[in-house]
Amino acid sequence: MYSKLSNEELIDRIKELEEKVHELEHSLVHDKLTMLKTRGYFEEKSKAHLESTEKIKTERRHEWSGFNDISFLFLDIDHFKNINDTYGHATGDSVLQKVAETLKKDLRVGDIVARWGGEEFVAILLGANEEQAKNKAEQIRGEVEQMTFENPAELKITISIGVAEFEEGKSFEDMVSHADEALYSAKETGRNKTVVYSEIKA
Ligand code: GH3
Ligand code: MG
Ligand code: MG
Repeated sequence: MYSKLSNEELIDRIKELEEKVHELEHSLVHDKLTMLKTRGYFEEKSKAHLESTEKIKTERRHEWSGFNDISFLFLDIDHFKNINDTYGHATGDSVLQKVAETLKKDLRVGDIVARWGGEEFVAILLGANEEQAKNKAEQIRGEVEQMTFENPAELKITISIGVAEFEEGKSFEDMVSHADEALYSAKETGRNKTVVYSEIKA
């Protein structure tokens, strides 16, 4: 079918197809509503980071430095169901988008933030110990608390965050579950706060 095309036309066609492939690749790893990474992408990349960190710890311990610290955040919008129920699903969606933008803006290049599902987000912070991760989480939480919306102007939102620092021998699933446990504790103890896993296990 390409036999009648000129070289220029063929090149244009190839460029077009390359763009299509690029778009498809992009849509496979991005959540449509928030444009954050998908849970699957987050899992794959986080596992790779944990694997290489574990390797340094076990095989090249002398090279170990704070650069190798890794922390996980689990974030959940407080009483989000109320927002949907009071203002409608479209407003709920715009809240999700605005929170996602804040997360993207506040995290460093190389960190990964993803939509875990519904109104829950996860992030992996590279080169951050639990204290640094908590500071970052508190910055995000504070910004969300201050967030304003054009419509409805009276809308205020808060988020709760769980923080967990990677420990040797822990799996990706362990880390997500530690951060989730910390988040649960933040919810249980009043919401609009950050809780660190090691604090509840101390
Ligand atoms: P909590 O403070 O304990 O987290 O309470 P919550 O209301 O935030 O949590 P709950 O799990 O009860 O409600 C989450 C709601 O999120 C319910 C669901 O309808 C809504 N939701 C999930 N995905 C979307 C979405 O893509 N858009 C909108 N607008 N709502 C969503
Ligand atoms: Mg939730
Ligand atoms: Mg919630």
